[in-house]
Amino acid sequence: MQLTGIHHLTAISAKPRENLAFYTGVLGMRLVKKTVNQDDVSAYHLFYADAKANPGTDLTFFDFPAAPERRGTNSISRTGLRIAGTASLAFWHDRLIKAGVKTGKVAEVDGRMTLPFEDGEGQRLVLIDDGGEGAASPWEKSSIPPEHQIRGLGPVILSVHDLGRTAAVLTDVMNMTRVRDYGYEDVPVQVFAMGEGGIAAELHVIEQKGPMARQGAGGVHHVAFRTPDNAQYAAWVQRLNESGVPNSGEVDRFYFRSLYFREPNGILFEIATDGPGFATDEPMETLGEKLALPPFLEPRRAEIEAGLKPLS
Ligand code: ZN
Repeated sequence: MQLTGIHHLTAISAKPRENLAFYTGVLGMRLVKKTVNQDDVSAYHLFYADAKANPGTDLTFFDFPAAPERRGTNSISRTGLRIAGTASLAFWHDRLIKAGVKTGKVAEVDGRMTLPFEDGEGQRLVLIDDGGEGAASPWEKSSIPPEHQIRGLGPVILSVHDLGRTAAVLTDVMNMTRVRDYGYEDVPVQVFAMGEGGIAAELHVIEQKGPMARQGAGGVHHVAFRTPDNAQYAAWVQRLNESGVPNSGEVDRFYFRSLYFREPNGILFEIATDGPGFATDEPMETLGEKLALPPFLEPRRAEIEAGLKPLS
């Protein structure tokens, strides 16, 4: 049984208006779902993805009025966004500089060309040339030309205090394979692959001592991994239980089923099903245009809408 890649990554924003403007405007991603945090309905949960909201393309944000993240170990320290080709990297470098985005240098890392940057709240991201690997679904209404659009997530970079303990869970419980190591700014990085591997199915793990991160705005909340169907999802629940990994048990998120647990250094992981997907409660053509609520929250729509701040 293999996970098949990154499913989504959920981060934290204390500025949902700016967040929406940055991810849809500057980055040209599609807002595919505007909903609320199912555990705290006063907060938006915004999902940005490709045209079809494919699993593996969703970058999502909880709108929490939190203090900025205190950076440190035991956290997700950077998130990869895939683009195709060095011409696209040059396009993005120019675009981000012109937009006043805090942008690093184009550099080869782990054999791939990369461009690190941060959003306005310090969210650490990196554009990575995936060489056009795999399918992509550009969005016709994006502010970015189709050939330069973000194609999906991957890889995700973790910093942990004790790499050995994290590695053991990745390989022994989650069936990932340690495929290679590389050095980044003289720091060794271990690469773990899911399933058939590839850029959309990798975790890069760094051992970092020092103070622990304190989660907050501009930081990451959790990363989710793909499982193809309900049968394998149920098997993952069983596998975590048999391995003695404390977990949430089955959680139906309506757009997908979720299973949450913490890896040994405390980073929150999720295993999520590919389906049913975001077009389950609104047409693909108009995804994200109005507030979507799962059926169990629909009776509280008036109250929930009154508690949310307008996004524009
Ligand atoms: Zn999630």
